[in-house]
This record gives sequence, C-alpha cells and structure tokens, in this order.
Amino acid sequence: MGVPIEVCRAVPKVALHDHLDGGLRPSTIVEEAAAVGHALPTDDPAALGEWFFEAADSGSLVRYLETFDHTIAVMQTAAQLRRVAAEFVEDQAIDGVVYAEARWAPEQHLRGGLSLQQAVDAVRDGLADGMAACAAAGRPILARQILTSMRHGAPTTEIAELAVANRHDSVCGFDIAGAEDGFPPSRFVDAFDYLKRHNFEFTVHAGEAFGLPSIWEAVQLCGASRLGHGVRLIEDIAPDGTLGELSSYVRDRRIALELCPSSNLQTGIASTIAEHPFGRLAELRFRVTVSCDNRLMSRTTLSREFALLSEAFGYELADLRRFSINAAKSAFLPYDQRLVLIDRVKEGFAALT
Ligand SMILES: [Zn+2]
Repeated sequence: MGVPIEVCRAVPKVALHDHLDGGLRPSTIVEEAAAVGHALPTDDPAALGEWFFEAADSGSLVRYLETFDHTIAVMQTAAQLRRVAAEFVEDQAIDGVVYAEARWAPEQHLRGGLSLQQAVDAVRDGLADGMAACAAAGRPILARQILTSMRHGAPTTEIAELAVANRHDSVCGFDIAGAEDGFPPSRFVDAFDYLKRHNFEFTVHAGEAFGLPSIWEAVQLCGASRLGHGVRLIEDIAPDGTLGELSSYVRDRRIALELCPSSNLQTGIASTIAEHPFGRLAELRFRVTVSCDNRLMSRTTLSREFALLSEAFGYELADLRRFSINAAKSAFLPYDQRLVLIDRVKEGFAALT
C-alpha cells in the first residue's frame, strides 16, 4: 500500500541531490539537438526517454555514461543552459518540490565558447526564470546551484574558487562527481581546504561506487557536511544495529545522507527498493534525505521516490515529513532561510493531515 503518489506529489519536498544534466525533458533534448545538428539515438521524445532509462538500466557503465554525452551536447550555449535550468525548476515545482539544489559541472559546458563564469551566469538566469514562472503560477520554489568538479580530472581548485566567487549569486555549494573508484575525495583536498578557508558549504559524492574508505576521506580529510549517496555506510553497521566508529560519527554529527534509491538500483547497490539500505538507515535515525540523482536516466521524480519508499517500508506521512525536514535542515542555505523552509514544509504537511 503506502502513501499514494498523488499525496506524495502534494507534500512539500526538498531536493538536495539532482544533477542538472541528468534531468532534461526528452522533448528539450530533441529540439536542441536538431538545432545544433547533434545526432540522437532517436528523435521521438517518448522513445528517447525510454532509451535513456534503458541505457542507464543496462548495468553497463559505458552505456550509462553515454547518456550524458547527449544531454551535455545540448547544454553548450548560454541559451541552452538557461532553458535547461528554467525547466529544471519548473519540473521540480510541478512535482511539489519547494527547494531544489541543481548540481552540474561547468567545465563540461565550454565547448560552445562560454567561459566558466558565463556558464554559471546562464544557469543563474535560468533558475531565476524558473522561479519567477513558478511564483506566477502559484507554485513558489527556491532554487540554487551547486558547482561540481569532475573528480577523474586533474585535481584543481578552479571550480571551488568559481563557487566561492558566486556565493552571493545563486551558488550555494560545491561537490565532486564522476568515477569514485580509483579517484578518492582526498585528491581534491586542496579544493576543500580552499572552501573551508572561505567558510563555504560542500558535499562529496562518496560511498556509492566505493565503500567506507571513500566516506571516511570525504568526512574526515575533506570535511563534508553532507554525503552524496553515502549509502555504503551500511557496511559499518552490524546486523544487530551496532554502529562502527565511522557510522557513529556520521550519525552523531548529523551529516546528511543524500540517498537516491532508484538511481542506486541502476548502479547495483540493491536489486529492489525494499532491499535498499534506506530502511535500515532511517530506522537507525541517520539524517536520511531523499533525492533523485538523475530524473531522466532513472525515469523518476521525487514524489515517485517517496511513493516507492512508502510502499517498500510502510512509511506514513509522518515519516515522509521527517525526510523532508531532514533535507531542509541540511540545505545549503543561511540559517534564517532554512528556518523559513522548515516552516513551509511543516505547514504543507499540516495542511494534508
Ligand atoms: Zn549524483
């Protein structure tokens, strides 16, 4: 049973882990690809959406990564980035998301001649367009961007510096993404030191494709206050619920786990939602949050993730409320704005009960 999808859509949700280049509308990809002459596997939007899901679901990392070739190919001009960012916000708001952080790697969007700063400006403008359109439609939403460095590249502080330079202009945080195995978080320790010296927020993809050493580095060597996925922290928890030192620390410090159930099924963390460590981590009162990762590749939405979790683990509205509040508490927003967000989440749930 579980909370119905329509109710999950109506509850206020907070999206902390959502890649801008993993959430495009298939129709937008088709239109923009035609405009720039980029060849797609198919020009039919419905079939293309299906292709993205199947490629991501194939179990082949090569095919999974190929999907991003097509989205990134149509995000190379200011107009394209602006459109994709605006639609990101609109799609989230339609799904009942009230706060969203869009993460993306500016270094992958320079092939059309944009500078890093111009790319960031374009996404900023698109987020603003989306927020204005949603406010006008009676669906107010707040959106920010997280700048990502691709971890398999040469370690650099350039993107961290870019993020800090734009901290008062829609950029709320920093992240590293890409291949985790073989590219530990400590490779970017200079970037994280730079961020700490500038009192800036960051999260780290860790504990998805690689296990506890990656999580330990993200938390202790880099200083992450949130973990992108972090799902393999379960490996530090005994079957009877006894926590190891690292998992105790993560729980005690309220380090948020940005959990993305459907995405994790595609990368082999579990074969069904019911087998996903989310249930155990929530039961043990970690700061669990729910996100989509890549809505296009996982053919999902945040309300669908809520519904799937509710069905698998028997969660009721009170549980979903806790997950939304957890995410609001760990949002990369100033404390006063976080309090406003938490109140909005509480009011939204109160209106439904
Ligand atoms: Zn991710």
